[in-house]
Amino acid sequence: MAATVVIVGGGIIGCAIAERLSREDRYRVVVCEQDTVGAHASSAAAGLLSPGAERGELSSRSFELLPELVQRLKPSGVDVEFRVGETISPALTVEEERRLRAGDGRWLDQDEARREEPSLSPSVRGAAVHRAAQVTPGRLVQAVARTAVAQGAEIREGWPVAQLVLRSGRLRGVQGPDGVLAADLVVLAAGPWSPSLASPAGVPLDVRPSRGQLAMLHPRGLVLRRMLTWRHCYLVPKPDGTVVAGSTEEDVGFDARPTAAGIGMLLEFAVRAVPPLSDAAVGRTWAALRPATPDGEPVIGPAPGLPNLFLATGHNRTGILLAPITAQLVAEQLAAL
Ligand SMILES: Cc1cc2nc3c(=O)[nH]c(=O)nc-3n(C[C@H](O)[C@H](O)[C@H](O)COP(=O)(O)OP(=O)(O)OC[C@H]3O[C@@H](n4cnc5c(N)ncnc54)[C@H](O)[C@@H]3O)c2cc1C
Repeated sequence: MAATVVIVGGGIIGCAIAERLSREDRYRVVVCEQDTVGAHASSAAAGLLSPGAERGELSSRSFELLPELVQRLKPSGVDVEFRVGETISPALTVEEERRLRAGDGRWLDQDEARREEPSLSPSVRGAAVHRAAQVTPGRLVQAVARTAVAQGAEIREGWPVAQLVLRSGRLRGVQGPDGVLAADLVVLAAGPWSPSLASPAGVPLDVRPSRGQLAMLHPRGLVLRRMLTWRHCYLVPKPDGTVVAGSTEEDVGFDARPTAAGIGMLLEFAVRAVPPLSDAAVGRTWAALRPATPDGEPVIGPAPGLPNLFLATGHNRTGILLAPITAQLVAEQLAAL
């Protein structure tokens, strides 16, 4: 008989795991989502997918899995707007030039950088180029969820899990609004809310909300061919001609409002890096909460002391990129039980 796997959280991580597990007959998969699929960080994200040595081995492995995932999502009918391309990282100071030249990207001197991206600030000293890709995260999470459902998974939206139900040191299921849903295995993928379910079950989990803000800009024409990254900020030119500017990293609890200071900083960065953006119309602004861990690494694997509880959270700034490898790791670990 198929083992029932209950996944708490219908963000990109929970949905990617559901999509992966629902391909196997041995699981019956149920996703419990308190709001709607992708309601929080997973649809809010910018969609920059940037692997590389600095971002660790997991990110490179996940990057390689993306084309295959995108192919599998095609029958869902949702275009996830996956584009393979490059990022350009301009050096505006001597120190930045030294750091970027020492990195693993292709270095462009000042003239080359300005030739390849004519809208870059005249004060660039040069730039490093790395391979990257992008998606539209709101579309990706919907496509992944639809594919999981088409493969037999059940997704319960508006179904908040109040607590994990334990008996004799094992998880028996989850408590929802209309009773207990029995489970052989539970995967906790509830983003920054994960500790509120893990802690009462005696599972220590240091995941905190980290607010990120974004602004959409509508330039008059093409200002950037590539995505641009600079320190913690980035510009992502989208297929519809808009440019998404991100992002802040703020420790403000569960406050997911965009603020004047946050958006002001992003606009200042955008105009400094690409001066023609000063003329762009400012569109939507928004914010969401990333699940952040103290060391910046995600938590993927069995919970200490509760062998049938799996943790899949803490993906911080790279949860969209890391979704495929997370789903694969969880599937491998469950298969080894
Ligand atoms: C501004 C911003 C920009 C970003 N840009 C990028 C980017 O360019 N590239 C990239 O790779 N990553 C990016 N990220 C990071 C990425 O969005 C996150 O790492 C990722 O979305 C985390 O996914 P998740 O499924 O773990 O969490 P979430 O999307 O938060 O999903 C968790 C879900 O669990 C549900 N939930 C919580 N508690 C319960 C409960 N008790 N019962 C039922 N459901 C529950 C929530 O409603 C939520 O839908 C960005 C994030 C932000 C905020």
